[in-house]
Amino acid sequence: MEIVAISMNVGDNILKVRATIPQGVELVAVSKFHLNDAIMDAYKVGQRVFGESRATELKAKATSLPDDIRWHFIGHLQTNKVRMIMPYVTLIHSVDSERLLRLIDAEAARINKVVDVLLQVYVAQEESKFGFAPDELLQLIGSGIVNELSNVRVVGVMGMATNTDDENRILEDFRAINQTYQNARVLLKENNNFTQISMGMSDDYLMAIAEGSTMVRIGSSIFGNREY
Ligand SMILES: *Cc1c(COP(=O)(O)O)cnc(C)c1O
Repeated sequence: MEIVAISMNVGDNILKVRATIPQGVELVAVSKFHLNDAIMDAYKVGQRVFGESRATELKAKATSLPDDIRWHFIGHLQTNKVRMIMPYVTLIHSVDSERLLRLIDAEAARINKVVDVLLQVYVAQEESKFGFAPDELLQLIGSGIVNELSNVRVVGVMGMATNTDDENRILEDFRAINQTYQNARVLLKENNNFTQISMGMSDDYLMAIAEGSTMVRIGSSIFGNREY
């Protein structure tokens, strides 16, 4: 399902995508593998939130592009790359282990920063999987860890639907991610930071929004195809 017809003009694409996204849903422009010029085209029409999936690339872009860009890390994060991105990142979407969560807290503390993170929940029917199973995620939250961390705010969950044309499958996955969020919320009681559900990419973001997404991560509909 191709939602927006892509032109060569990144600025036009951003405006077209944004017109389909309701207020209160954050657009993360996924700029991985794209050059600074393309990012600046998006910046010029007001985009300030960009997502990257590789640590070295995020650092290179963050140190050469305007300071008011908010960088989100969206890919699998290796523990040995946490220190590299910490000065630049405002939200890490992809926390998939307790060890990584504690390390992020320690690295943020080291540079006197408080960083926001999402816990990645895994629901898709796929082989390469990162993230917590829903019950693992709830166990982690139930352990009380969120209140122990001094330099991390756990602000919600992130998930991906199965990569398939079967819309029922995609809907079920988004519902499972949302349900995990709701269950975690209940466990967190009076914690008011836990407000975000990051789900939805170029091909499925309208469905994700209909199922409660508060943050969509859109790359190819804005920047065109990536050349790896
Ligand atoms: C690359 C990527 C996206 C963007 O995907 P598109 O299909 O290009 O919109 C979103 N989320 C994650 C985690 C990604 O790695």
